[in-house]
Amino acid sequence: MKIGCHLSSSGGYMAMGQTAVSIGANVFQFFTRNPRGGAAKPVDKADAAAFMDYAAANGIGPILAHAPYTLNAAGAEERVREFAEMTMLDDLKRLELTPGAMYNFHPGSHVGQGAEKGIELISSMLTRILGSFGKVPATTVLLETMAGKGSEVGGRFEEVRAIIDRVEASAPGCALGVCLDTCHVWDAGYDIVNDLDGVLAEFDRVVGLGRLKAIHTNDSMNGLGSHKDRHEKIGKGRIGLDAFRRIVNHPRLRDLPFYLETPCDLQGYKEEIALLKGLRI
Ligand code: FE
Ligand code: FE
Ligand code: ZN
Repeated sequence: MKIGCHLSSSGGYMAMGQTAVSIGANVFQFFTRNPRGGAAKPVDKADAAAFMDYAAANGIGPILAHAPYTLNAAGAEERVREFAEMTMLDDLKRLELTPGAMYNFHPGSHVGQGAEKGIELISSMLTRILGSFGKVPATTVLLETMAGKGSEVGGRFEEVRAIIDRVEASAPGCALGVCLDTCHVWDAGYDIVNDLDGVLAEFDRVVGLGRLKAIHTNDSMNGLGSHKDRHEKIGKGRIGLDAFRRIVNHPRLRDLPFYLETPCDLQGYKEEIALLKGLRI
């Protein structure tokens, strides 16, 4: 089972790899820079190279880089969109040092411009980034499914699909993937508790399960369709342990990497990793 959690990137790649091993994880997620935005520390090339060896020797990966929350490709102000574009391009360049990684981002919030305008802005940004990259990136870019909080784009599978279609039509050779966040889809109104098969069939029909590359494994503090996005510890929220048992064993999900983003410290994550491993049949 590929399972891990969000880790602090402050000590670099090698430290994250060793921390992952110490808590029973074989994958992990990290922020590429301060999640609230701002400049990134330069990547230590020796650290990245040492980590790649360590990861191969210890069966770690794929690692999942997460863009800052402040990145909003669908912002109304040009300054906001420029920051998003500059940040993502810079992140993808840095991730060339760790080939095979994935890069997850929140599609964005249209801030009142409407979902259609948001989809257009997000798609055109991704097209410019991937089109100007000079090669197919060593990193797979993932759109995260969102809770539909406020004016978030990506709360409906159709919105995710629309972005993928537009980007791939104008940046040939660049395949986008999707990260499904269990808390977000539940909060968005997809009933993964009572009808996991139905939700996955809908995802397959609209997006295609072949696009699904990662699962953000979070319980939710709120009810189905609440559009809140408040993560809860596994089994302590409204999704519940029985649903997670079905999720980690589902034939279409079980081979995907699971990344926890629950409100836990390292010891808590260690326990949740053991809990989820224990649910596997
Ligand atoms: Fe996220
Ligand atoms: Fe998430
Ligand atoms: Zn969330």
